[in-house]
Amino acid sequence: MSSDADSPSLAHAVALIAAARHAVVLAGAGMSKESGIPTFRGDGGLWTVRGEPPLNQYETFSADPRRWWERRLEQERSADEFATAIESAEPNAGHRALADLEAMGAIAHVISQNIDDLHRRAGQRSLTEIHGNRTWMRCIVCESRWPRAEFPVDPEALPPRCAQPGCGGIVKGDTVMFGEPIPPSALRRCAEESARADLFLSVGTSAVVYPAAQYPIAAAQRGVPLIEINPEPTPLTPLAAVVLRGPSGEVLPALAAAVRALQDRGSAARTSPGEDD
Ligand code: NAD
Ligand code: ZN
Repeated sequence: MSSDADSPSLAHAVALIAAARHAVVLAGAGMSKESGIPTFRGDGGLWTVRGEPPLNQYETFSADPRRWWERRLEQERSADEFATAIESAEPNAGHRALADLEAMGAIAHVISQNIDDLHRRAGQRSLTEIHGNRTWMRCIVCESRWPRAEFPVDPEALPPRCAQPGCGGIVKGDTVMFGEPIPPSALRRCAEESARADLFLSVGTSAVVYPAAQYPIAAAQRGVPLIEINPEPTPLTPLAAVVLRGPSGEVLPALAAAVRALQDRGSAARTSPGEDD
């Protein structure tokens, strides 16, 4: 792995970050693996073990939203394996380092495919959850959102309806289902941030789910450098200017520490006495 503080790859990544004015990150399920949440694909992935879910989830939901809600409430009561892993998970060192990089002004925005709420809980502020957030509910008409904990659901009146004046749309989990259009506001934000990007980082994603994978690909095609952080190669690897092989819970803290050290050296140099001699 090339995440030790002296590695040439790490130094190259730090230089790219220092030179960037608007670095954008695409994050994926690999970032949450060290928080105990299984990925979908790859070794030990949920789908590798269980098989892929049906691709027409949203069609099934739309045909019978009451049935979806009955199953969701049942799942909440019976502690489904994936749901339990998400609910008991805590942000890991990778999530915290990514939030630190934002606080340092080193990265501008995170587009995450994760639905587990761990980026926000780690303190990430400029964040688009392109596939939604499992802990929130969303109206399919007006896109209003509520944390699940603040959205009472009457099991006798399913599906729940949106309370916004004049709306009344059906409310579902915020997670984007297979076959469901990604909420337009999220797509707009991703497109805006990606268009401004002068550096892309791809962290813990197999980069095979679209449109998410399209953002770093399109950026690389217009000459924007790409840093990949992943223990395994992905379709993005050939496009990357720098590849940091390793778990994000180790690589991102090393990267954040190196960026901070560079910033500290910069401010020490600016304030060092004797400059006027
Ligand atoms: P993916 O499951 O397709 O791929 C995971 C990637 O993470 C792989 O490339 C793997 O090599 C890498 N990885 C494994 N361990 C890692 C580590 N410790 N550090 C960094 N990288 C590591 O995930 P994806 O590309 O995000 O696409 C899966 C889809 O499933 C997404 O749409 C996402 O919404 C959803 N999903 C979300 C969660 C979550 O919220 N935590 C979990 C599983 C799936
Ligand atoms: Zn509504």
